Amino acid sequence: MIERLVLLGTKGGPALRPGGPMPTSCLIEIGGRSAVIDCGLGVTKGLVDAGLSLKGLDLVFITHLHSDHVLELGALIHTAWTAGLATPVRVFGPEGTRDVWAHFCRSLSYDIETRIVDEGRPDILALVTVTEFSQGRVFEEADLSVEALRVDHPPVTECYALRFNENGRSVVFSADTCHFQPLAAFAEGADYLVHEAMLLEGVDRLVARTGNGARLKEHLMASHTLAEDAGRIASDAGCAHLVLNHLIPADDPQVGPEDWERAVRTTWEGSLTIGRDGLELPLKRASAPRA
Ligand SMILES: [Zn+2]
Ligand SMILES: [Zn+2]
Repeated sequence: MIERLVLLGTKGGPALRPGGPMPTSCLIEIGGRSAVIDCGLGVTKGLVDAGLSLKGLDLVFITHLHSDHVLELGALIHTAWTAGLATPVRVFGPEGTRDVWAHFCRSLSYDIETRIVDEGRPDILALVTVTEFSQGRVFEEADLSVEALRVDHPPVTECYALRFNENGRSVVFSADTCHFQPLAAFAEGADYLVHEAMLLEGVDRLVARTGNGARLKEHLMASHTLAEDAGRIASDAGCAHLVLNHLIPADDPQVGPEDWERAVRTTWEGSLTIGRDGLELPLKRASAPRA
């Protein structure tokens, strides 16, 4: 298996615009496992385009229940099921994730029951286990472990950064958060820090465009991180590579990679990637040979 991190959807927020990027989801393939992080709209197509066989869907992690992170969770698993999924899928998410899945299955009960009877498919409910987590160790199997840190994303209280560790490699996802200093310790020495980011000049144009200006700007500033502050976290963490993700704005023609770079270079000198849909980043070799 290729070992890589793939950004499937890189925009912050649920809105779509012609030719624009998709909401948030990532794929990490590490130590023989594959994990999907967040299931924004477009995650299924993103995984297929990245070459993942949906039949092999394995681990799914949801950072929080905002729709731009969870809207396509049910549709992803259901589509994998119709593609021939016959092995267990494990879903990890904050409190409420079990309901999201159960209600999805209820809403699709006609189709699900029909396919079980008509096409002889296994019961989708029996294939999926949902584990609700809070801060701390979320997952551990063989050499792969996943840790969660509660971040600050008001008004959502159940929102978690995730750290994947495997054989000396580590990838950290900030989830949605305002500038949150404890992330620096959580991401210490990570190979990749995938951090959400917002660009101030773009935010001003975004709120001017959408109407409920002052209120929206207040929410964005209280709940998200400016690119400069994402750079500060990466510097304090001493991570090897910063990846800006969940971009706000993501589809402003007046904002390009050079604008993000200018903002983040005031606080971060290391390797940098400005996220875009479909971008693949290689993982370094494992420090210990696998048995
Ligand atoms: Zn979001
Ligand atoms: Zn959010």
